[in-house]
Formats: sequence, C-alpha cells, structure tokens
Amino acid sequence: RVAALEQVRGVPTVTKDGKKINLYANIGNPGNLPQVLANDAEGIGLFRSEFLYLESSDYPTEDQQFEAYKQAAEALQGKTVVIRTLDIGADKKVDYFQLDPEENPAMGMRAIRICLTRVDLFKTQLRALLRASAYGKIAIMFPMIISVWEVQRCKEILNEVRQELDEKGIAYDKDMEIGIMVETPAAAVMSEELAKEVDFFSIGSNDLTQYTLAIDRQQTQLDAFFDPHHPAVLKLIQMTIENGHKAGIWVGICGELGADLTLTETFLRMGVDELSVSPPSVLPLREKVRSLDLSK
Ligand code: PEP
Ligand code: MG
Repeated sequence: RVAALEQVRGVPTVTKDGKKINLYANIGNPGNLPQVLANDAEGIGLFRSEFLYLESSDYPTEDQQFEAYKQAAEALQGKTVVIRTLDIGADKKVDYFQLDPEENPAMGMRAIRICLTRVDLFKTQLRALLRASAYGKIAIMFPMIISVWEVQRCKEILNEVRQELDEKGIAYDKDMEIGIMVETPAAAVMSEELAKEVDFFSIGSNDLTQYTLAIDRQQTQLDAFFDPHHPAVLKLIQMTIENGHKAGIWVGICGELGADLTLTETFLRMGVDELSVSPPSVLPLREKVRSLDLSK
C-alpha cells in the first residue's frame, strides 16, 4: 500500500484522459508544514488562521501573525498558500474576545461577522497577510460569507490596508488572489453574483452540510439523519462550480468531502479545479484521480 502511494509522489494529479486538478493540503498551524511537504501537496488550500488566536491569552500582534504567514509562504517556495482570515466563534471559542453568550453560536457572531464588526482587529490580520505575501504566493480567503456586500466591504478594507502599506513603502504582492469560502447555502445560491467579486471559490463542505441539512456538525446523535452525500449538498456544490466557471474563476473544495474517494469522480465530472485535504489524504487522493478516465 505504501509502495503504491510512493508511485504517485512527484507526478501530476491528472486523470487518464488528461483532466488535471490542483491537489492542496489543509493545515491549522505552521507546525503542520513539514507534513504538507512530506505528503507532496501541490500547495495549501486552507490555512486555518485561528491557531494563533486559540493558542494565546490575548490578541496576537501583527508581527506574530506576519511571522507565521511568512513561514508558510517561504516553506511552500512559490506554491499557493491560501490563508483564511479569522474564523473564530461557534465551535472555536476564545475568551479574550468577550463574545456574549448566544443560544445558537453557529448562527451567531462569528468569523467574518466579527471581522466586519471589529475592523481594527481585521486590519491587523490583513496587514500581516499582505506583508507576508512578499515572501511567496499567498491568497486570502474570507469565511462564512452570505452576501455580496460583505465581500465588497472586505475588499474595501483590504484596499485601505494596501494604501497604508503603499504610503509607508512596505512591499506586498499586488497580484494576490482574493477568494471566499462557499460554506453557507446563501453563498452557494448567490454564487453567480459572488463570482463577479472574487478570484476563486473554496467550498467548505463541513459547514455547507451543517447549514443545508440544519444538522449541527458536532451532534453525533443525529447520525441517522446526517447523510454526507445528501443530494441537496451535492446540488449546491455543482451550482457553485458552474457559476464560478461562468465568471472564469477557479473553484475548489476544502471541506472533509473533498477527501471522500467515493465522490472524487463526481467532483471531477462537475469540473472542480482544486481539492484541498488533510496532508495524509493527499497521496491516496492523487492515486484515485490518476485511476479515473472521465471519457468513459
Ligand atoms: C468547512 O466548513 O468545510 C471548512 C473547511 O471550514 P472549517 O471546518 O474550519 O469550519
Ligand atoms: Mg467552515
């Protein structure tokens, strides 16, 4: 088994009939970088940036964040590193944020909603990300988007930060790609409009499934009702890929479903451009893609 996986190391992730995808890895911490390289991922499709906030007892500084993002950019040596902005709230709790207790935290003050409410906090992270973009190929991704205005507001704030850096003569990648997570039914349904605002979509199937099926992703007693292959979720994924492609942007999947080998052929037939999975899933998924022939 290990020998078979070794054979797909260093070769492209391409089907027998020539459909190539980008096979990236998900990480939650710079400590995972050696695993990304050891498993031969072609980039990082989801760097969950919460770790710095979860690990510390106060807000991480701009420099602390900059160092972590720069480390990832440098380790990947010019390969894409998609860094997701803060996705705190709901299952990811941080005391010093002093968020009010809520009945339904998964539907509450979380992720981009916090960032657009507390813009200073958001700007600190964006400044760190832009500065780190001078050291490799970083892309920024915004989580939990439901509306076009949110994306426009994120880009407006990002532009303010760019301008501040320009005034100080601080370098950053002017061509950095900007994308969003499609992980709410609203984002999938609005994907035609949202696609006009960004360079890529990354489908977060974990939350997309939770919100589409109205089943808490942490609630194990509902396993009988929780169908990870529910057609409603697959239809939203297909719709998102189609609308992304209509606007000429790339579309990936970074939720757990991306590593589900029983769905790989389905996703490739839908036209997915990128799959981002945990590092140990990279080589098995490449082997699966290379075994497929979509012309049949
Ligand atoms: C998702 O929701 O599918 C996702 C990739 O993000 P997270 O699991 O961090 O919520
Ligand atoms: Mg999510």
